[in-house]
Amino acid sequence: MMRTPIIAGNWKMHTTVEEAMELVRAMLDGLQAVPQVERVLCPPFVSLYPVAGLLKGTNIGLGAQNMHWEEKGAFTGEISPLMLKGLCQYVIIGHSERRTYFGETDEGVNRKVKAALAHGLTPIVCVGENLAQNEAGETDAVVSGQVRAAFAGIDAAPARRIVIAYEPVWAIGTGRAATGEQASRVIGGVIRGTLAELYDAGTAQAIRVQYGGSTNAKNIREFMAYPDIDGALVGGASLKADEFVEMVRLAAKVKFGA
Ligand code: PEP
Repeated sequence: MMRTPIIAGNWKMHTTVEEAMELVRAMLDGLQAVPQVERVLCPPFVSLYPVAGLLKGTNIGLGAQNMHWEEKGAFTGEISPLMLKGLCQYVIIGHSERRTYFGETDEGVNRKVKAALAHGLTPIVCVGENLAQNEAGETDAVVSGQVRAAFAGIDAAPARRIVIAYEPVWAIGTGRAATGEQASRVIGGVIRGTLAELYDAGTAQAIRVQYGGSTNAKNIREFMAYPDIDGALVGGASLKADEFVEMVRLAAKVKFGA
């Protein structure tokens, strides 16, 4: 089965509105030239609207970095799926920084995934073990548990629309990426194995799984060379226009030889 590769840039809490627009302008032509790869930019909330304007008429996707599961209500400071719907197409859910610093739970992640699907948004669901769990040999159990929780109560057809990002927490922003072999073992073995148990082999093969954690233009080829790895969720390197464009180009080259 041929899954469309997907590279998403998570800008985290970086860039003012002006800087975000500048960054988009700097990468737009380069990104547009690689339509074989699904390309997604996830700027901070306040830049979604202006960036959506810049991306109008292009083939580049736009995503939010988080969202509440309720449509509206007394949830000061939160952003709802109704606000995102029509403005962007993707939403990152359960990023490890949100789980670690903002107390996001597996249950909350599941609610958000369901809300995103209900509103036609593509969830990019982050899973991954932290360093202590990795060193204790708990990687498989942790990742499998996070996948089960995120997909709880979701039928196979909508589940196929979900993108998973396997992001070992110890690799995020540390400059210490996993190896392609490590990432492929967890993605192909643990994550697709869990999806096959939850659904069926076809569904497990249809769902796209990215790797995330200190990816850059130097190491992206290594990850993309593994058939089970469908792309990357990129943090730091997505803030550098030339490097991010190069990563998308290299991803296309490895997957399609183009
Ligand atoms: C991320 O923010 O999801 C991420 C993987 O960050 P970095 O690429 O900087 O490690």
